[in-house]
Amino acid sequence: MPRPWVYFFGNGKADGKSDMKNLLGGKGANLAEMNLLGLPVPPGFTITTEVCTAFYQNDKKYPEGLEEEVKQALAQVEAIMGAKFGDAKQPLLLSVRSGARASMPGMMDTILNLGLNDETVKGIIARSGDERFGYDSYRRFIQMYSDVVLDVDREFFEHQIEERKEHKKVRLDTELSAQDWKELVAVFKRHVLQMTGKPFPEDPKDQLWGAVGAVFSSWMNKRAIEYRRINGIPEEWGTAVNVQAMVFGNMGNDCATGVAFTRDPSTGEKRFFGEFLVNAQGEDVVAGIRTPQPINVVGKKHDNSALPSLEEVMPACYRDLVDIYQKLEKHYRDMQDIEFTIEKGKVWMLQTRTGKRTAQAAVKIAADMLAEGLIDRKTAVLRVNPSQLDQLLHPALDPKAKQLVIAKGLPASPGAATGKVVFSAEEAQHQSEKGEKVILVRLETSPEDIHGMHVAEGILTARGGMTSHAAVVARGMGKCCVTGCGDLAISYKERRMSVGEHVIQQGDWLTLNGSTGEVILGKVPTIEPELSGDFGAFMSWVDEFRKLKVRTNADTPHDAKVARRFGAEGIGLCRTEHMFFEGERIDAVREMILADDRKGREKALAKILPMQKGDFKGIFREMKDLPVTIRLLDPPLHEFLPHTDEEIQQVSEKIGLPFERIKKKLEALHEFNPMLGHRGCRLGISYPEIYEMQVRAIMEAACELAKDEGFKIIPEIMIPLVGHVNELAYMRRVTAETCERVLKEKGVQLTYLIGTMIELPRAALTADQVAREADFFSFGTNDLTQTTFGLSRDDAGKFLPAYLEKKILPEDPFVTLDVEGVGTLVKYAVELGRKTKPDLKVGICGEHGGDPRSVEFCHRIHLDYVSCSPYRVPVARLAAAHAALKEKETK
Ligand code: ADP
Ligand code: MG
Ligand code: MG
Repeated sequence: MPRPWVYFFGNGKADGKSDMKNLLGGKGANLAEMNLLGLPVPPGFTITTEVCTAFYQNDKKYPEGLEEEVKQALAQVEAIMGAKFGDAKQPLLLSVRSGARASMPGMMDTILNLGLNDETVKGIIARSGDERFGYDSYRRFIQMYSDVVLDVDREFFEHQIEERKEHKKVRLDTELSAQDWKELVAVFKRHVLQMTGKPFPEDPKDQLWGAVGAVFSSWMNKRAIEYRRINGIPEEWGTAVNVQAMVFGNMGNDCATGVAFTRDPSTGEKRFFGEFLVNAQGEDVVAGIRTPQPINVVGKKHDNSALPSLEEVMPACYRDLVDIYQKLEKHYRDMQDIEFTIEKGKVWMLQTRTGKRTAQAAVKIAADMLAEGLIDRKTAVLRVNPSQLDQLLHPALDPKAKQLVIAKGLPASPGAATGKVVFSAEEAQHQSEKGEKVILVRLETSPEDIHGMHVAEGILTARGGMTSHAAVVARGMGKCCVTGCGDLAISYKERRMSVGEHVIQQGDWLTLNGSTGEVILGKVPTIEPELSGDFGAFMSWVDEFRKLKVRTNADTPHDAKVARRFGAEGIGLCRTEHMFFEGERIDAVREMILADDRKGREKALAKILPMQKGDFKGIFREMKDLPVTIRLLDPPLHEFLPHTDEEIQQVSEKIGLPFERIKKKLEALHEFNPMLGHRGCRLGISYPEIYEMQVRAIMEAACELAKDEGFKIIPEIMIPLVGHVNELAYMRRVTAETCERVLKEKGVQLTYLIGTMIELPRAALTADQVAREADFFSFGTNDLTQTTFGLSRDDAGKFLPAYLEKKILPEDPFVTLDVEGVGTLVKYAVELGRKTKPDLKVGICGEHGGDPRSVEFCHRIHLDYVSCSPYRVPVARLAAAHAALKEKETK
């Protein structure tokens, strides 16, 4: 037997149930389930998503047999309701509601009171004895139907209602009389005739099929298509249509309509929470026409509301509703978002679904439900979405505070920050030394701004995208950042910026919301994240399930400390070049670069050695005995030299070398394509003394801590940008020699590992050879993505957005690992590498290490660990647990 097109529900029976969301949509499946639970639900039927698919495959024609099935289902509804669709005396009215698998804004709005015409309206007036109710329902129907099905702008109708209220000197819709609505109905219908050239459809059957067709058509409207694109919902899913008997919340003061959550969706607190309106229908509650009332006394106190609650005005209905919500929560074992209507003192359920919630609420609800025995640990862990977790780890804006949003940029790094505006890194440092909180505003940032970024509360740039320097660095620091805010007109010289009519001077207060990209005028209080309590407990359950280890990318003891607090199990990437920029050492670094020969370089390097050693000691101490992977110098040397003549002049005076000499060196170091230039291990091969100094610093730090403080450190020394095994073989020899020399000098026994970063396709393709010389691999997926695509991340901002828009690429490959391309290389290299060395340690250390979907991939290909910025560590831990749990499920 072929599957039916139509599924009936009503009177405690249903053809469908809650796990049939694919076929019935979320709304339809849950309407069926609520019927099966014996809850009061108006009867109706669901036209399946397969009809939608057939409709589009067949030139917008309905499949054969649909009409007959609808007729039969409708007859069942009529029997239960004791009314007939289109009947003048006992008319049945219907609601027509769309319902996709996932709730989807952009889909057709619900049409209520369908079946009304000049005849049937008299029928419902006679039955209810309430003329106002009759015409109120009728005018609502005409408004909704015209807007949704006939494409007549809703503004005219609303304007007419407003005029009428003004004329009558009343404020609320409910204060208009039956006569008012009756006259408006006539005005509305005339308007429809004028706009469409056809009279408003009087035949209820035409109305019904018109509405059903509009639902299916809305699946392909612009808003819906856009929403599907952003959220990755396939077009083939289709939408269902729910046709349901009407119940009326607008039949008088013993009627109401409302929405509620079984727990507080913003805090997770266990309290029934919701709003309702007396004598109202449908979307009145959310439309903001009248101020909705709190559902119970607790909510009333919570919101400081003066309005009477449902618990007070309709105590019996409230008790029924409490019974229902408790039953639903027990049944679904999750927080529910419900919609209900009260008709003449009887509660009717119109919808239930899993409630959306903030990250904070998600953690609290998971913890509470576990304690209540509603769910097990595994379910609790799966209840919190890894990408959402990020919200919890950063300060947030106080939701109670007023906000004047003046511009919007990209939400580059989440969290909130408030401070005084400065326009340079120097000023940022200067102000912060005086104890001021600052927001650093730049056109865009560069490595020279790092110190300013470090001390700033938040960073705002006019240019740059989600992977611009500012964005990447800020995320690494866990600092709130808004980029690409094109509305800013910044004048560094005058130390001010303007946004529209607002002019902001240095020192003025500004607030950023890095989670939304909003720029807010003035000072807004922020709330610090809470990492203990439920969150701490939750993260400990997470760790029970994951297989992947999670390390962090950290260049400073401070970052290492933050990451440990977030549960990092080591450092996967410690970049040494950032250390070169700090304070006075940049002078010694420049002296080294400008030296004529090895001897001159060694002299300068000797100055850097104790400083690097100090850095490593600091990091080793923070990480206790956890593994630390240190990457030797990677960027091209010209990055450390001054660039403008002015800067060159300053440096020349400072280190006592002629201007010309520096300028010449700079020209000599110039590269056409620095990304593929003289960097990574190529530096180590040209100037082994640089790497020797760094290795010595690492080993001396480890030995001294072992000797003096009893540490057991296993340093992991990582050689960057290897493409050929011989590069690594050479560097390994130099490195190992230095290691052995230091061990001998210090008289200490200590294990060290020498490995490489796999960030060039050639290294991945010859990983079996490379593994001969490597104790570990760490996939540098940022560069591996650049080199595999042949795509410069710094320049991608110019064309990548268009790629995403035109769906040339499904995703930004610098955010989510390109599994098919780059991922295949990674997988292949892991297999090859382990063929040579079965116990080869393998991890990744690109930005992808903190991206939940990329983490899942790393789990699947059996990496040992992922490494990500400190603030992403909990996200990666949770993503790793989800990956392990989901894998079990599908096995
Ligand atoms: P949405 O998907 O936008 O929530 P719904 O289909 O749930 O749209 O309808 C919106 C509102 O319309 C419901 O919350 C309810 O108040 C009202 N509604 C829908 N169906 C009925 C019905 N059969 N009787 C009374 N009101 C209804
Ligand atoms: Mg709804
Ligand atoms: Mg690299």
